[in-house]
Order: sequence, then structure tokens, then C-alpha cells
Amino acid sequence: CGIVGYVGAQAALDVVMAGLKRLEYRGYDSAGVAVPADGGLAAAKRAGKLVNLEKALVERPLPAGTTGIGHTRWATHGAPTDANAHPHLDNAGRVAVVHNGIIENFAVLRAELTERGHDLASETDTEVVAHLLAEEFSATADLAEAMRLVCRRLTGAFTLVAVHADDPDVVVGARRNSPLVVGVGEGEAFLASDVAAFIAHTRSAIELGQDQVVELRRDGVTVTGFDGRPAEVRSYHVDWDASA
Ligand code: GLU
Repeated sequence: CGIVGYVGAQAALDVVMAGLKRLEYRGYDSAGVAVPADGGLAAAKRAGKLVNLEKALVERPLPAGTTGIGHTRWATHGAPTDANAHPHLDNAGRVAVVHNGIIENFAVLRAELTERGHDLASETDTEVVAHLLAEEFSATADLAEAMRLVCRRLTGAFTLVAVHADDPDVVVGARRNSPLVVGVGEGEAFLASDVAAFIAHTRSAIELGQDQVVELRRDGVTVTGFDGRPAEVRSYHVDWDASA
């Protein structure tokens, strides 16, 4: 339901949790975060309100990375449990993905993945994306390219945001029939389903177009189509009152 991504110099979890709070008005049944740090990938997720996730993060703090993603879920496939909450990880625990929307062809993809030896741990339509990204990343070593390849195999409506332990200073996002906005700061960049999530940090925004992938790094953002062609970037200034 709500998505936040961050790459920069700040403590990513602080930025991501504050962003998720700004998106609470949308309603949700579970929440989670992932941070690539110290050569690995750490994640936490809980059914229920954000306070449940906050408590889990106090009990078992995640490493202090400067790249992170977060999600508030409104369940469509699978009950609102800890296991079905996002992020979803691949079996090696190297890639994490969050998703808004519905992946219509997930059952076919899930059957194919199971046949190839993947062990799917949730009942969601989303989890297939984590496993597919892991496969494509091991072939390309490029998270944006892996995302483009995966998106071309998906049908339905989706905003997807992913991080990978092997490329910890990058956040990749993609969208089809579901919103995703990029915030561009000084030495930092943001991704969210709604500008409200990052308006406290920057008012310089880019609206991602249909069937586009964005790669966020500290020093800039790159937008391409699902076909890999460079996309025209439409940037604008967010001028509505953040306190509204
Ligand atoms: N379809 C996904 C799920 O049920 C994402 C739901 C959402 O948009 O929050 O997990």
C-alpha cells in the first residue's frame, strides 16, 4: 500500500520509518523494512501497526546502513501475517523487494520457480519477484537490468522497489499501472508511492512513467523503459504544504 526507498548519507532506517509514518493515512495491515549493510541484507517485518515493527527493531536492531526500503501492506494475496508482510527475500537472503498492487501471473511463475528448486515461504503474489530478481542478478550483476528483465515477464499492476546485498548503494524501482515518485536531494535520493513520504527532505521530484525502471544512487538517478531504452525524465517541484 505504501512504499519508501532511500539511498544517501543518512541512517536509512530513520528516513524509511519516518516516510512510512507519513503514508499511514492510506491504511495498512502490516509493515516491514530491509537494509543492505555489512556485506549482507537485514530485514524486519510485522503484522499490525507500525509500532509492532518499531518494537521489533528495538528488540533486534538492524545494522545502520545508508540504503533502505520500507513497505506498508494492504493484503490482496495471503493473510496479514508476519510471513506475508513485505519485504520478501530470495532463498539466499541477498535480495529484498516490496510491492504495491497485484501480479496477475504469479501462480505460473511460482510453479516455474518451484520446479527450478526455489523454496517459496509466503502466500503472496509478490514473493516470486524476489526469486526472479535473484536469478537475473546472478546472470547480469546489475539490479536495474535484472528488474527490467523481471518486469517484462509480469502482468498486472505493480510498483516494485528492490535492494541487493551485492550492490548496497543502489535502490531500484519499477512501475506499471501503479504510482511511484522519485525525490532527488543533495547526495541522496528517495522513492515513494506518494511525495508525502519524502517532502521533509526534498521538493525536487520525478514522476516515473508507465513501464519504467529507475536506478537510485547517491549521485543521481537513471530512468529507462522496461526495454532498456533511456527514458525522458519529467521533473517537477512539489509545492504543496507539507503540514497539510
Ligand atoms: N499483492 C501484494 C500482497 O498482497 C501487495 C499488496 C499491497 O499493495 O500492499 O502482498
